[in-house]
Amino acid sequence: MKVASISSSYIAPVKKPAFKGMFGSPSLSEKFRYGMEALDDNSILVVASNPERADMILKQYSDKITTPILKKYTLKVEEKDLKNREELDCDFAIFKQDKKYFALALGRGMFSSLMVKRPKEEAKRKEHIFGTGNVVELRDGVAIETGEMLWDEKPKLLFNPPYRFNTSAAEKYLQVKTINNVPDFNKRSIASLSTKNAVKDDKIGFTFADVGGLDDVIEQLRKYVVRPVNYPQVFENIRLNKGIMLYGPPRCGKTLLGKALANEVGAKYREYNANEFKSAQVGASESAIREVFAKAAADAPSITFIDEFDSIGKTRDGSSNARFDDPMVNQFLGCMSDLEKSKKPAFIIAATNMVKLIDPALLASGRFGLHLEVPMPNLEGLKQIFKIHSKNQPIQSDVPLETIFQKMFGGKFNGSDVAEMISDAYFNALERLGMFAKMDAKNFGYDDLKSISISFADFEKAIGRILKQKI
Ligand code: ATP
Repeated sequence: MKVASISSSYIAPVKKPAFKGMFGSPSLSEKFRYGMEALDDNSILVVASNPERADMILKQYSDKITTPILKKYTLKVEEKDLKNREELDCDFAIFKQDKKYFALALGRGMFSSLMVKRPKEEAKRKEHIFGTGNVVELRDGVAIETGEMLWDEKPKLLFNPPYRFNTSAAEKYLQVKTINNVPDFNKRSIASLSTKNAVKDDKIGFTFADVGGLDDVIEQLRKYVVRPVNYPQVFENIRLNKGIMLYGPPRCGKTLLGKALANEVGAKYREYNANEFKSAQVGASESAIREVFAKAAADAPSITFIDEFDSIGKTRDGSSNARFDDPMVNQFLGCMSDLEKSKKPAFIIAATNMVKLIDPALLASGRFGLHLEVPMPNLEGLKQIFKIHSKNQPIQSDVPLETIFQKMFGGKFNGSDVAEMISDAYFNALERLGMFAKMDAKNFGYDDLKSISISFADFEKAIGRILKQKI
């Protein structure tokens, strides 16, 4: 295969350092060259003094790169690498597309720009200046400069191809991230490379379309939350159910529903576990609860999700329920009635697997008065959940899906099991196709990614593992 054969050939190091000007450090120049040599059509080199920040900016502009990115090399520029400045004024990323090289400016704010020009060209000409998010093609012999526009000596690198594809040195000296489990490897692959926050945002991005087999619950949430939030005039003189109790077996979609609901109404979403409120200090639990409600009201419209709500009113070690005059129960009751009186669309969703353990006073109307069951999925529900989670999966066309659905149903799969089964089948496919060996030998490329497909045997193996673990 093309990628494999190129990567195995040895490329002699070029002596001339690529960086000049204030990039005084020879090791930095070397690393930059290694990064350039490693670039193929599915990788990116980020040169940054603050890689986390650069990643966040990269995420914002990832749609500027249309080829799938499977690997990211990061060259961290440190203070010691620069002569006069603490950090690069404009971080940047270099990528390759159709044998051409491009730079994407990753500055922060209006005045941080990248300058790309031939060394003798007039420095202040507008066509050489690129603000954050701009992409510029790099031609042989141009200099990439980063630094304050009015500064004479700017951090500079000279772009001198040809660079030849050789990953080995880059992987040794630069920070490398590989994406090997992203089936939809388009521009989102860069986002998933970026930061922990990106993952979080992604999750909050769920909508009702991502929830399978719970149409009745969704309809109730539309009725009591979505429409009242979207049409407040219609519900002005109506008491809203601000407290909602979602109950049912674990891993069937309660949290997912909370996140999806927040997204459907454009509300701020916050998630807590009721155990977080427990404190040994007198009065601390109550004040933590008051704070949660204050934040919920301040951010309205908001959805506040409280998991394991049954632990409210339990002793700290969970051994028994001290229901009567429990200060946390009383605090919740007080906060709920204040919230109900206010006009603010702040909704508190309590979730539990054990609704019977909850103090009946909390379940009364005006408190957590709307009770919605989130049950185990039936056969139809399992089909819907499968469809949602397999959307971008390369499933072979001859896989007998009905057989898989029956096996899931017989095995009492919950929603999370379905998701787990699909990713496990994907892993099994990689193993069966020898992809792991290729990854370990660093021979894995875009063509391999395209050739992955999940077979019935891959699903059967995944189902077997999940069933075994359930026992
Ligand atoms: P717990 O009671 O253990 O907190 P839960 O009911 O809140 O569990 P979730 O956290 O919502 O369950 O589900 C876990 C994961 O399982 C979800 O992120 C999702 O990937 C998958 N999942 C569960 N139920 C569904 C469903 N009905 N539709 C689609 N995916 C689901």
